[in-house]
Amino acid sequence: MSDCLFCQIVAKEIPAEIVYETGRTLAFRDVNPQAPTHVLVIPKQHHRDAAELARADDGLADDVLKTAHTVAVQEGVAEDGYRVVFNTGPGAGQTVFHVHAHVLGGRGLTWPPG
Ligand code: 5GP
Ligand code: ZN
Repeated sequence: MSDCLFCQIVAKEIPAEIVYETGRTLAFRDVNPQAPTHVLVIPKQHHRDAAELARADDGLADDVLKTAHTVAVQEGVAEDGYRVVFNTGPGAGQTVFHVHAHVLGGRGLTWPPG
Protein backbone atom coordinates (compact mmCIF):
# COMPACT_ATOMS: atom_id res chain seq x y z
CA MET A 1 0.00 0.00 0.00
CA SER A 2 1.91 3.02 -1.28
CA ASP A 3 0.09 5.55 0.93
CA CYS A 4 0.70 3.58 4.16
CA LEU A 5 3.41 5.03 6.41
CA PHE A 6 4.56 1.67 7.77
CA CYS A 7 4.56 0.03 4.33
CA GLN A 8 6.86 2.87 3.31
CA ILE A 9 9.15 2.06 6.26
CA VAL A 10 9.16 -1.62 5.16
CA ALA A 11 10.08 -0.47 1.64
CA LYS A 12 12.87 1.73 3.16
CA GLU A 13 11.28 4.77 1.50
CA ILE A 14 11.00 6.43 4.93
CA PRO A 15 13.89 6.03 7.40
CA ALA A 16 13.41 4.32 10.75
CA GLU A 17 15.75 3.04 13.46
CA ILE A 18 15.37 -0.67 12.83
CA VAL A 19 16.35 -2.84 15.81
CA TYR A 20 15.39 -6.31 14.53
CA GLU A 21 14.10 -7.89 11.36
CA THR A 22 12.89 -11.32 10.24
CA GLY A 23 11.61 -12.51 6.88
CA ARG A 24 8.05 -11.46 7.73
CA THR A 25 8.41 -8.87 10.52
CA LEU A 26 10.18 -5.59 11.22
CA ALA A 27 10.90 -3.87 14.56
CA PHE A 28 11.83 -0.19 14.79
CA ARG A 29 11.90 2.51 17.46
CA ASP A 30 8.80 4.65 17.93
CA VAL A 31 9.51 8.24 16.86
CA ASN A 32 7.74 9.52 20.00
CA PRO A 33 8.79 7.09 22.74
CA GLN A 34 6.57 6.71 25.80
CA ALA A 35 9.11 4.64 27.77
CA PRO A 36 12.91 4.05 27.67
CA THR A 37 12.16 1.08 25.41
CA HIS A 38 9.38 1.78 22.90
CA VAL A 39 9.66 -0.35 19.80
CA LEU A 40 6.99 -1.01 17.17
CA VAL A 41 6.76 -4.51 15.71
CA ILE A 42 4.91 -4.93 12.42
CA PRO A 43 4.26 -7.64 9.88
CA LYS A 44 5.83 -6.59 6.58
CA GLN A 45 2.56 -7.55 4.90
CA HIS A 46 -0.13 -4.89 5.23
CA HIS A 47 -3.04 -5.62 7.59
CA ARG A 48 -4.99 -2.71 9.00
CA ASP A 49 -5.31 -3.86 12.62
CA ALA A 50 -4.96 -6.78 15.03
CA ALA A 51 -8.38 -8.13 14.08
CA GLU A 52 -7.39 -8.39 10.42
CA LEU A 53 -4.00 -9.86 11.39
CA ALA A 54 -5.74 -12.52 13.50
CA ARG A 55 -7.90 -13.44 10.52
CA ALA A 56 -4.83 -13.82 8.27
CA ASP A 57 -4.61 -17.35 9.74
CA ASP A 58 -1.12 -18.13 8.46
CA GLY A 59 0.99 -17.82 11.60
CA LEU A 60 1.76 -14.16 10.99
CA ALA A 61 0.28 -13.02 14.32
CA ASP A 62 2.51 -15.65 15.93
CA ASP A 63 5.56 -14.20 14.18
CA VAL A 64 4.73 -10.67 15.38
CA LEU A 65 4.44 -11.85 19.00
CA LYS A 66 7.67 -13.84 18.78
CA THR A 67 9.49 -10.82 17.35
CA ALA A 68 8.05 -8.67 20.17
CA HIS A 69 9.54 -11.01 22.74
CA THR A 70 12.89 -11.21 20.94
CA VAL A 71 13.03 -7.40 20.94
CA ALA A 72 12.23 -7.30 24.67
CA VAL A 73 15.12 -9.70 25.37
CA GLN A 74 17.44 -7.73 23.09
CA GLU A 75 16.47 -4.46 24.80
CA GLY A 76 17.11 -5.98 28.24
CA VAL A 77 13.54 -5.47 29.53
CA ALA A 78 12.26 -9.07 29.41
CA GLU A 79 13.31 -9.96 32.97
CA ASP A 80 11.81 -6.93 34.72
CA GLY A 81 8.69 -7.00 32.59
CA TYR A 82 7.39 -5.30 29.53
CA ARG A 83 4.07 -4.54 27.87
CA VAL A 84 2.83 -5.46 24.39
CA VAL A 85 -0.04 -3.27 23.19
CA PHE A 86 -2.12 -3.41 20.02
CA ASN A 87 -4.29 -0.31 19.87
CA THR A 88 -7.14 -1.57 17.69
CA GLY A 89 -9.45 1.01 16.19
CA PRO A 90 -9.67 4.79 16.64
CA GLY A 91 -11.51 4.50 19.97
CA ALA A 92 -8.50 2.66 21.41
CA GLY A 93 -6.06 5.27 20.10
CA GLN A 94 -4.94 3.62 16.86
CA THR A 95 -3.61 6.32 14.53
CA VAL A 96 -1.56 4.30 12.01
CA PHE A 97 -3.65 1.69 10.23
CA HIS A 98 -0.94 -0.86 9.58
CA VAL A 99 -1.09 -3.23 12.54
CA HIS A 100 1.73 -2.74 15.04
CA ALA A 101 2.59 -4.06 18.48
CA HIS A 102 4.01 -1.48 20.86
CA VAL A 103 6.74 -3.06 23.00
CA LEU A 104 7.15 -0.88 26.08
CA GLY A 105 9.55 -1.30 28.97
CA GLY A 106 12.42 0.09 30.96
CA ARG A 107 10.25 1.84 33.56
CA GLY A 108 7.42 0.92 35.90
CA LEU A 109 4.16 0.68 33.95
CA THR A 110 0.90 1.42 35.71
CA TRP A 111 -2.41 -0.36 35.27
CA PRO A 112 -5.01 0.39 34.06
CA PRO A 113 -3.62 2.29 31.07
CA GLY A 114 -5.18 5.62 30.16
P1 5GP B 1 -0.98 4.00 17.38
O1 5GP B 1 -1.44 5.32 17.94
O2 5GP B 1 -1.53 3.76 15.99
O3 5GP B 1 -1.20 2.82 18.29
O4 5GP B 1 0.60 4.09 17.26
C1 5GP B 1 1.25 4.72 16.21
C2 5GP B 1 2.65 4.99 16.68
O5 5GP B 1 3.45 5.26 15.55
C3 5GP B 1 2.77 6.19 17.62
O6 5GP B 1 3.30 5.76 18.86
C4 5GP B 1 3.69 7.14 16.87
O7 5GP B 1 4.58 7.81 17.72
C5 5GP B 1 4.41 6.23 15.90
N1 5GP B 1 4.80 6.87 14.67
C6 5GP B 1 4.03 7.69 13.90
N2 5GP B 1 4.72 8.07 12.81
C7 5GP B 1 5.94 7.45 12.88
C8 5GP B 1 7.10 7.45 12.03
O8 5GP B 1 7.15 8.08 10.97
N3 5GP B 1 8.17 6.72 12.44
C9 5GP B 1 8.16 5.99 13.60
N4 5GP B 1 9.27 5.29 13.91
N5 5GP B 1 7.07 5.97 14.42
C10 5GP B 1 5.99 6.69 14.06
ZN1 ZN C 1 0.90 -0.80 5.46
